[in-house]
Amino acid sequence: MSAQNPVFIPGPTNIPEEIRKACDMPTMDHRSPAFARLFKPAVAGVKRVLNMAEGEVIILPSTGTGGWEAAISNTLSPGDTVLAARFGMFSHRWIDLCQRHGLNVQIIETPWGQGAPLEAIEAALRADTANEIKAVLATHNETATGVRSDIGGIRRAMDGASHPAMLFADGVSSIGSMPFDMAGWGVDIAVAGSQKGFMLPAGLAILGVSPKALSAMEHATLPRTFFDFRDMIKAYAAGGYPYTPAVGLISGLAKSIEMLEDEGLENVYARHARFAEATRRAVAAWGMRPCAASPELYSETVTAVVVPEGCNGTDLVQLAASKYGMAFGVGLGEVAGKVFRIGHLGMLTDAMLLSGLAVAEMCMADLGWDVRLGSGVAAAQDYLRSSGAATIAEAA
Ligand SMILES: *Cc1c(COP(=O)(O)O)cnc(C)c1O
Repeated sequence: MSAQNPVFIPGPTNIPEEIRKACDMPTMDHRSPAFARLFKPAVAGVKRVLNMAEGEVIILPSTGTGGWEAAISNTLSPGDTVLAARFGMFSHRWIDLCQRHGLNVQIIETPWGQGAPLEAIEAALRADTANEIKAVLATHNETATGVRSDIGGIRRAMDGASHPAMLFADGVSSIGSMPFDMAGWGVDIAVAGSQKGFMLPAGLAILGVSPKALSAMEHATLPRTFFDFRDMIKAYAAGGYPYTPAVGLISGLAKSIEMLEDEGLENVYARHARFAEATRRAVAAWGMRPCAASPELYSETVTAVVVPEGCNGTDLVQLAASKYGMAFGVGLGEVAGKVFRIGHLGMLTDAMLLSGLAVAEMCMADLGWDVRLGSGVAAAQDYLRSSGAATIAEAA
């Protein structure tokens, strides 16, 4: 039991006590058989969470951003072209990272609040008759706007254009919380981080890498050392690491996967969908709307709430922190001030979610926004009562 309130930022997420304990361990020799016994189930578990049929899991001491860097530096060469749509802060930052690595990024500018534009992607691939585009980058869940993109749809667009590019998906704020189907969607590299759906502290980049991406690795010439998959794969085969791994976090990752699978991945996804809907009911009762432009784009892990004209979302986030000790996400980039974000991913129960909605509402009243106290909470309560209990409560 801790006196700290749950957090409602879209990562890092609340760390369950069991995971905290699993991370807190005595020093272990990472070249010992004991480490291999810890590591192998974590790798096998990540394969199941990503739904990987083949290929390799790579777990780096890093964060999601390092995972992006590892994905491109292991598979591409300076001057290669990649195709990416920009529709939020995270899709923007991945583009920026590619440009700083000397890649030529063909950017499809897309309004914030929209997702990856399938038709424009297919058209760009069809126009690329020389197959200059080596990879399509897609942000599965744009955490800045609360928008989910259709990664399977991107694969269909690529196949429709008969284009041989690789498909890289940023699943940092979706994997472990929303259905992710690496095999079914034909994803060549999936990137996750430890501190969102896996409910761990920050410190691991977790990647799934397809056989196609592994073969691209053999002739890619972007420089990499710390992130070199070849060193990792060679060391894994011997049950170890090319350098010192984050042993405590890997122990926590094994526990995280055990918890996700004890609850059942389908139940985990359903719980997130249920919390997302409860949150949107509250938002509607406040007379506001999600930044995501239409229902098929709604994220199940984060809702970016568009605040009324004349209100500033950052004021709410600051007041929630200073007066109530509760963390919400600020609007980033183009939507700074125009939205505030409610993260509803990772370890959350009905009661925890309601506490966040109640505090957001108190802040709105404190700031003089035209919102009736209890309106959003009641809408969420009604939905939660009628839609079954959170499966995580039983596991606690
Ligand atoms: C959080 C996040 C990242 C960045 O991950 P870090 O672990 O902070 O480096 C990248 N992409 C998305 C979609 C995210 O939500």
